[in-house]
Amino acid sequence: MKGALIGCGFFAQNQLHAWRDIDGVEIVALCDQDAGRLAQSAADFNITRTHADAAEMFAVGGFDFVDIATTVPSHLPLVKMAAEAGVHIICQKPFADNLADARAMVAAADAAQKTLMVHENFRWQSAIQAALYVVKSGSIGDPFFGRFSFRSGYDVFSGQPYLAEGARFIIEDLGIHILDIARAFLGDADRIAATTKRVNPNIKGEDVATMLLTHAGGATSVVDCSYATRRTPETFPETLLEIDGTEGTARLDAGYQLSVTGKETHSVDVNPPVLSWAEKPWHNIQESVLTIQQHFVDCVAKGRAPQTSGADNLQTLALVEAAYLSAAEGRTVRLSEH
Ligand code: NAD
Repeated sequence: MKGALIGCGFFAQNQLHAWRDIDGVEIVALCDQDAGRLAQSAADFNITRTHADAAEMFAVGGFDFVDIATTVPSHLPLVKMAAEAGVHIICQKPFADNLADARAMVAAADAAQKTLMVHENFRWQSAIQAALYVVKSGSIGDPFFGRFSFRSGYDVFSGQPYLAEGARFIIEDLGIHILDIARAFLGDADRIAATTKRVNPNIKGEDVATMLLTHAGGATSVVDCSYATRRTPETFPETLLEIDGTEGTARLDAGYQLSVTGKETHSVDVNPPVLSWAEKPWHNIQESVLTIQQHFVDCVAKGRAPQTSGADNLQTLALVEAAYLSAAEGRTVRLSEH
């Protein structure tokens, strides 16, 4: 498969490394409006074909899929261009900042009969996959409660300065991943109640969010996120989990320790590998980039919908929207309101 990547910024470097590790895939073209970033990535990854303009890149063609690694404002026009060009599409999260745009992108890919996957990589972390395997295999019975927790004091703003500037921050940027993990474990949610708070005075959006979800299957979960939490050990960027089932409990604790208490009781170290191009503490996220991109390639080859397809991601985005509405209005919001 030949691919093209748009947006040679902070996170795209991981995606370019991961593409290099996947057999049968070659990135043949790069695009960025920023000449310096474009030239740097082209040199680092030895990719000679570069474009400042995405429309021009699609017009020249010569690739089967596009990896859109830009921030949200460009997603709708770029996904539409990609669908019109008849290529498969991966688009970074947040997929859209409103559901209408997200639905329009799903419709565009459907009309073109092309695969559209959102780069929603958090559920693809190997430690999360190990915990998912425990729960889905029935080891703890029927899950009735989950806690999905991401609390940190890590400075994310130096690498991603735009995160300090938006009216929305933690739910839209990070909570979206943790809500998606909650969905992966407990299924879609019917309703959500959320509170938000801004602790850091130097940013515009909220850096603390606490959300209570009622899942369609009857389970309840708490999704709690904070970038205002100083703790030892600093767990960035680990998601900690606690799932109670009718016959046992699974926990993923700090330091990637998975313990299962139930039919079988055991603890296992699920520390992720540090890939050759990865560095701590980002290594678990970097590994998940490789895994999700391999999933995309496999799905395209087999004609299957990716787990985190554009259509699937509508449910995660609906939770994000409902969480902001709940926090603003101080009430529980039903997902059917959207
Ligand atoms: P960034 O600002 O560092 O990079 C984005 C790049 O896209 C910039 O170089 C910019 O010039 C380019 N760009 C924007 N619009 C363009 C267009 N229309 N045509 C060509 N180039 C264009 O941003 P980032 O921190 O790399 O984040 C990118 C996306 O990745 C964001 O949506 C962010 O939420 C997401 N992200 C995901 C994860 C994850 O774990 N999945 C982690 C970090 C960031």
